[in-house]
Amino acid sequence: MINDVSTSHKAVAITFDDGPNPMYTAQVLEIFQEAHGKATFFMIGEQVERYPEMAKTVAEQGHEIGNHTYTHPKLSELSRANCLEEMEGNEKLIGGLTGHKPVIFRPPYLEYNQETALILKEKGYPMIGALNMEARDWEQPGVEHIMEVSRACVKNGSILIFHDGYGDRSQTIEAIRRLVADLSSNGYQLVTVSELLKLAD
Ligand SMILES: [Zn+2]
Repeated sequence: MINDVSTSHKAVAITFDDGPNPMYTAQVLEIFQEAHGKATFFMIGEQVERYPEMAKTVAEQGHEIGNHTYTHPKLSELSRANCLEEMEGNEKLIGGLTGHKPVIFRPPYLEYNQETALILKEKGYPMIGALNMEARDWEQPGVEHIMEVSRACVKNGSILIFHDGYGDRSQTIEAIRRLVADLSSNGYQLVTVSELLKLAD
């Protein structure tokens, strides 16, 4: 599981799970457009089917779409065949819609076993985690909490996790608005996960 990248570049990758969502994904796009930054969206196939235009817009604006399975199951509880179905179904969907097959993967609940890791390795998918799990933005612990815990995890090469899907994400949006402004004014480049991996020393 890759939670950060060792790099001398002042760059971080901000990621969003469980979308696309017509309201919150759009708000994230606006924030990153203003900051001239790029983000990464680990999308669920079922959500992509619901909001294909949103997924297309994300790709067209130069952000990265990562694979987050088709239905968001716990992969360790699935057979090998079902695991592959979850990964490849979403891969085909996103690839067909945007013209770019996802090349990075984040397991739902960041939960996996040896079998999952082996399948990902065979498929050539890096498994992407994050440093700021304690921010727990999915539980809506307060804007200050999300912002401060995440800010404390920022260094060259950090990968940060947030959510733009499932439920009320207004706290996340507000925290991201502040975090992106803070990082930009401190000279951090906001890059996609794949870009960050290429910046590794
Ligand atoms: Zn998720």
